[in-house]
Amino acid sequence: MSPAKPLNYRQALLSSIHQPPQPKTTASSPKQSKLLLLPTELQNNIISHLDIPSTLILRLTNRHFYTLNSCPTHTTLLLAERTPWAVTLNLYSCMDCLRLRPQAKFATAMLNGPKGRNGKDPQKRFCVECGLKGPRSRYSPGAEIVVEGKRHVLCKECKVYSGEVGCVGSGMCWERDVCELSWEEGVWGDV
Ligand SMILES: [Zn+2]
Ligand SMILES: [Zn+2]
Repeated sequence: MSPAKPLNYRQALLSSIHQPPQPKTTASSPKQSKLLLLPTELQNNIISHLDIPSTLILRLTNRHFYTLNSCPTHTTLLLAERTPWAVTLNLYSCMDCLRLRPQAKFATAMLNGPKGRNGKDPQKRFCVECGLKGPRSRYSPGAEIVVEGKRHVLCKECKVYSGEVGCVGSGMCWERDVCELSWEEGVWGDV
């Protein structure tokens, strides 16, 4: 059983930082983090002692820490996805966009077997979004993709990715596949 999905992915990431209780601020007191007041050199030193999940979360807190921490490598993400933090949040790495993404962003086939978290080829996993677009487009027209138990298709006729799917193996969206079946069954009558 997978744990309940967080309502908001970013909030869930940020709330997983164990923050000490903050002193109450008055209207005139500054709200800037004490960490931000330190010289960059010291900040880098502190960051170097963080574990991978904490480093990734810190990158998301503000623009400063986003630019201070270099983009994680694929190897780092593959290590991160095996931590209890990523397992609990159902996060997986994508080889193309180099992000940790929730399981709903991947085809089921990418999360099990060789490309699964503990498989032999997790480095070959890509998210649906990356598989569908860009120069690295990996899904061909006609591909049928199951995401969280629901079938989708990259229709070989209209080239649109759709959850309204025709018959299994048709490689077509519902609209096109129905037409094909109807012609075959002579629903439209002789022409
Ligand atoms: Zn991706
Ligand atoms: Zn179609």
